[in-house]
Formats: sequence, structure tokens, C-alpha cells
Amino acid sequence: MPALDNRTIAERLETLASLLDLAGSSFYSVRAYRRAAELIRATPAPVADLVRSGRVRELRGIGPSIETRLRELVETGRLAEIDELEGEVQPALVGLGRMVGLGPQRMADLGRTLGIRSADELREAAAAGRLREVPGIGPTTEAKIRAALERPPAAPRRGLLLNRAWELVGGIAVALAGEAAGDPRRWRDASERLAVVVASTRPAEVIERFHGLPEIVALVERDERRAIGVTVDGIPVELVVAPPQRFGTELLRATGASRYVEALGELPAGADEPAVYRALGVPYLPPELREEPFRGEPPALVELGQIRGDLHVHTTWSDGKASVLEMAEAARDLGYEYLAICDHTRAVRVVPGLDADDVRRQGVEIAAANERLAPFRVLRGIECDILADGALDLPDDVLAELDWVQASVHAGQRQSRDQLTKRTLAAVHHPAVRSISHPQGRIINHRPPNAVDLEAVFAACLETGTAVETNGLPDRIDLSAELVRDAIGAGLRITCSTDAHSVRGLGNMRLSVATARRGWATAADVLNTRPLAELGV
Ligand SMILES: [Zn+2]
Ligand SMILES: [Zn+2]
Repeated sequence: MPALDNRTIAERLETLASLLDLAGSSFYSVRAYRRAAELIRATPAPVADLVRSGRVRELRGIGPSIETRLRELVETGRLAEIDELEGEVQPALVGLGRMVGLGPQRMADLGRTLGIRSADELREAAAAGRLREVPGIGPTTEAKIRAALERPPAAPRRGLLLNRAWELVGGIAVALAGEAAGDPRRWRDASERLAVVVASTRPAEVIERFHGLPEIVALVERDERRAIGVTVDGIPVELVVAPPQRFGTELLRATGASRYVEALGELPAGADEPAVYRALGVPYLPPELREEPFRGEPPALVELGQIRGDLHVHTTWSDGKASVLEMAEAARDLGYEYLAICDHTRAVRVVPGLDADDVRRQGVEIAAANERLAPFRVLRGIECDILADGALDLPDDVLAELDWVQASVHAGQRQSRDQLTKRTLAAVHHPAVRSISHPQGRIINHRPPNAVDLEAVFAACLETGTAVETNGLPDRIDLSAELVRDAIGAGLRITCSTDAHSVRGLGNMRLSVATARRGWATAADVLNTRPLAELGV
């Protein structure tokens, strides 16, 4: 049997995790499998070899029970538990149910009573008025299911965060040798439209392969060149199979936004997007800017390769997973010139934070890292809490020693507009503060932006030369793209930071940079495209 690659192993573990989740297993075992899958996907060494040589437990987070599953998978190519669970919980029904707004249990009843296993069978049963034969389905639920089946598949109720959206459409695009499109390609912070475009002269084969992917549990629509599949979470993904000479045309269309595409008028045929733009007589527009109608020449947007350092990362000194040296080496390996270590201060409370003594002891460790890694520079930084009254959570003399001070509101996000604004303004006016982290404190899908008056904050930042961050954590993306545009319009510099809590988290720089690009930022607008000497540290 050929050795399984890491991606396939990770996919099988994720399938198992989803099935266990559906079958009501404990949150912890589901999470353990999901984490193991994530770890295996990120591991450069072939995991199948590590399993065979009995060394897989050396990977952090792989315990004895996961090792047993991995051994079975590597030796037999399958996991018996997946087959068992698939008979029991039927992911296709669960995915369809979630799409039409029914829970797994209700869908299982429906499947059993009516003998339904696919979207078509569900439609037929609905058309024949048989749904009400199912115990517990009354006229209201029946009407809801019929309505959901008649309209085009609904967008997910909560937009997908960038990391999940890219994992999903990026994975499908790789598997089908196509290109990810829809909202993730424009780097929207919460994706509703997910699409993949493939160039092929054999659309039926591509659609079959799409249907066979582990991510897709059922097809809910199928035409000659287009299909909509649904994931086990009920998220619809659109597949477009374009003839090769129209690949650019269909990619542009599927990337959206629809308002933008419609304003371009009828799209000419083109094998790639630049060809389509040329035929239109319109300058090429990067996907990040395709929201509102625009036919002009775009500015030279900031690029990931122009970033010279990350100014907001955590280590094991607070709630990070890697040491100062590990984070710094990883940053150097990304080609950066500098990295600011910005752990939390005490007031953050929910996780460990540093006091004045800790900050000075950390300084010794940072100095040692600098000796090893020169000319790369590790900056002594801090993510200093802004206290409820606007004071900072470290004494001024300690703050003055540091190279780079980010200031953040963590507790008290529900304060009034007046309180939050005063608090933030006090930090902006503090001479040590260089940038305000995640200024709105939002957690996408969980916590709305706080009430701070950003116009006032931007005005003060302009006066003091303070930057504002666009934070690359997928559930933050704060400032949002719209606010990046406002900040730049006000004359501010922004910082593109990851707020990484692990080496892997440094990869979120592309999310931050994409958000800056959506906010029309050029390299000149982004402080950390500058060499260290120009940062004034
Ligand atoms: Zn923070
Ligand atoms: Zn942070």
C-alpha cells in the first residue's frame, strides 16, 4: 500500500473528529483529534514514517490513543471507526440538515422514517408531501424545509473566519487543481460565498471528484458545469468548471463581489483574469479591492514580501506556546529583520501577565537571543493593558526602557463610548505608546466592536505619531479593512501584526496584510515595511 501523505492523514482524523462530534462524543476527544490533524498538516516530516518507526509520540499532542488510530490508518489505509460511525450518523443528512436549519437528531429521524439519504431524495419527499409522516415534523417545520430546499443554498448563518474559509476552499482547490474564489479570495473577514473554479474540458469528471472529496458530504445542486456541495457543517461550496479559454472569466465572476462584477458589464472570454481585464479595457484590480464598482488604476498595494518585521507576538512568558528564541528564529526564517516580543501585563488576568520584575527578567533573555541571532533584532516590547481609568499597567520607568509598546483594552469592552474613548486617548497620549492594538476589541461572531470613538482616537494618533494596528488573528481582524481605509485617510500609519501565540501564528501576517490591502494601504502606509532604523527604537 502506498504511504499516506500528511494531508490525507489529517483529513481522515478530521473526518473522525466530525463524526465523533455528531455522535455526541466528548468535546475533549473531538478537540484532541482536530488538534492532531492540524499538527500533522503542519508537520514537514512524513507522519506515516514516524508512525512506522514508533516515533510519532515525539510530536506534541499525540498521545497513546491517537497513536493507535494513526497506526491503524497507516497500516490498513482506513479507520474502522469511521466506517461504523458513517453508518450511524450519515454525514450527508447532517450536512443537509444544517443547511436547511434542522439538527442532527431530527435529520436522523427523517432519514430513518422516509429512507432518505441524499438531497434529491429529500426534495422528492418534500414535493410528495411526505415530510409530515415523520414524528415531530409539523406544518411549520415542513414549510421551513420546503422553503429552504426551493431557494438557492443559503449562506452560512455565521460567516466563516478567514482561516477556516481558506482551509476549506483552499483544500478543495488543491484537490481539484483549481483556484479558490468567492469571499475568501477577496479576503473578507467573514466569508459567506465559498467557491472553487476549475479549468477543464471534462466537467462531469470534475464534479464527480468534487462529490467524492471528504469535505463534501452531499451535492445539493448539479448542472452541466456547476455544482453546489455542502459540508458536514451545512456550509455550501460552489464549484464552477470552466472551459480553459474562459477560466479567467469564470474566476472573476466567482470571485465577486457581485456588485463589482455586475458593474463591469458583460464579461469577455479570457483564459486568465489579466486577459479579461485587457479585453474590457480596464486596469487589473487585485481581488481585495473588488467590492464597489471601480474601473480606475489601483494604487500599488502593500505586499506580504514588503513586511520587515512583526510588532506584536506572545511567548511562554504570558499565554504563548513558544519561547522568545523559538519565536525569534521563526521570524528570522520568514525573512524578517526584527520581531517585537509583546507579552501581556498583569491586568489581563485571564492569562498570565508580566509585572515590572518579569519585564526586566525577560529583557535578559531577549538580550541573549539578540546575541545569538544578530543582525536580526528581537525588540523588548509589551502589550500593555490600558486600565479602566486610562493608566497603563506598568510603571513609566519600565515602559521607557522598552523598544516597542503596544497598548490594549482587554477588560471593560462594554464601557460607554465616553469611557472607552477617554481611556484609549490617555494611552495614545502616553509618550511610551507606539501603537494601539486591536482598537475595537471585537471578536468576530462573538463580540461586537466596542463603542470607542475612533475618529477622536485617529485624530489624537495623528498628533502624537502613534500607529494603529490591524490585528491578523482570524477572529479579530481589528482594525477591519473599512477602518484601515479611514485610518490611512486620516493620515495615520498602521501596523500589520499577527498577535501570534505560536510559531505557526506568525503565518497570520498574510491575513493582516490582506486586510490592509482591502483598506487600500500601500507599503508607505504600513509602519513595519520600514527598516528598523526608521522605526525609531
Ligand atoms: Zn490583546
Ligand atoms: Zn496580543
